[in-house]
Amino acid sequence: MNKEYIIKDILNFILIDGKINQDALSSDLIKNKDKILKYLNNGYKVSTVSTIQQCEICNKPAGPINYFSDGYWIWPKWLNHYLTEHNIKFPKKFLERMELNNYNIDKNFVRQVLEDDNTILE
Ligand SMILES: [Zn+2]
Repeated sequence: MNKEYIIKDILNFILIDGKINQDALSSDLIKNKDKILKYLNNGYKVSTVSTIQQCEICNKPAGPINYFSDGYWIWPKWLNHYLTEHNIKFPKKFLERMELNNYNIDKNFVRQVLEDDNTILE
């Protein structure tokens, strides 16, 4: 039996009508921010696009639209900007996955999930 993998698109959890959900932004200190940033930066690169996303809040370039994955979630590179500059709060499930992975991404696993024809993106 083939196991079906599910990859969740983080944007479905933090955007409302294509805009960053304002409730997700906070002035609070983000716990484990450095570890989370490192995790986001170490994702397996899924796509390469040259377009740069502009930040909705400060209008600075937020970074490329390139997508990264850990085999469970998929996120764009520009998400880092919202964490470093605007303390965006991620869904609990996303943070729990990072913790379960000890803030490490197994790139062989990600490749396996991405190459599996049964993988679902939601
Ligand atoms: Zn910004």
